[in-house]
Amino acid sequence: MDYLETKGRVFDIQRYSIHDGPGIRTIVFLKGCVLHCRWCCNPESQEYAIQTMKVQGEDKVIGRDVTVREMIEEVEKDRPYYYRSGGGLTLSGGECLCQPEFARDLLRAAKERGINTSIESMACAPFERIEMLLPYLDLYLMDIKHTNPAKHQEFTGRSNELMLENARKTALAGRTKLVIRVPVIPTFNDTVEEIQGIARFAASLPGVDKIHLLPYHRLGQDKYEGLGREYMMEGIIPPSMEHMDTLKKAVHGVCSLDCQIGG
Ligand code: SF4
Repeated sequence: MDYLETKGRVFDIQRYSIHDGPGIRTIVFLKGCVLHCRWCCNPESQEYAIQTMKVQGEDKVIGRDVTVREMIEEVEKDRPYYYRSGGGLTLSGGECLCQPEFARDLLRAAKERGINTSIESMACAPFERIEMLLPYLDLYLMDIKHTNPAKHQEFTGRSNELMLENARKTALAGRTKLVIRVPVIPTFNDTVEEIQGIARFAASLPGVDKIHLLPYHRLGQDKYEGLGREYMMEGIIPPSMEHMDTLKKAVHGVCSLDCQIGG
């Protein structure tokens, strides 16, 4: 079968993004994730099944099946922006490693058209799936949420060993640029010690020189109501800029990574 006919399930496409890789980017959001992070701002991404979510009182269908050919045609419409800014395509979700064939073929279609590629992924999948993507991937924005397995399990539904192992294997493979991103979540990982633990781990990965600290926000809260789900972060206040600055300094205190607040 022609790889352009590979099918996948997406739920959104966002244009003109400047926080998800270099330059101006088009983000394709894939359905499905194996984690259930309490703070997830895209809870409609977690189930692979097509769902209905209430948005401003109206039912909205979340998820549609597309071919790589259809998606790359959409992405190509933004080519003038990539050319001027050094941008390109970013796959997000959900977790693109839950649909590895579609992710690989969409990245391949982009690369064959000279479009820069990036994924936002937390690497919770067999490493073979990551290897499938590497030939077509310019930048891996990899979430590392915590170094403590028990806490990771409690707040995301899964332990972190596989993700940490995949981070190391991806770095050792040396086939894509790897940036570590940390969602900074009060009550979960926002202490100096916890962030320094993640920074030390990131700094130990060969070739990694950047870490991004992404402050928790509540933008996804209404979606939980729209899906009939409880928002488990009720009452949790986003970290202040002062605290984010403290964490950035704490990172610099333990390693030489270039630390940036935000994507
Ligand atoms: S890994 Fe990302 S998409 Fe999956 S549940 Fe966590 S925050 Fe949501």
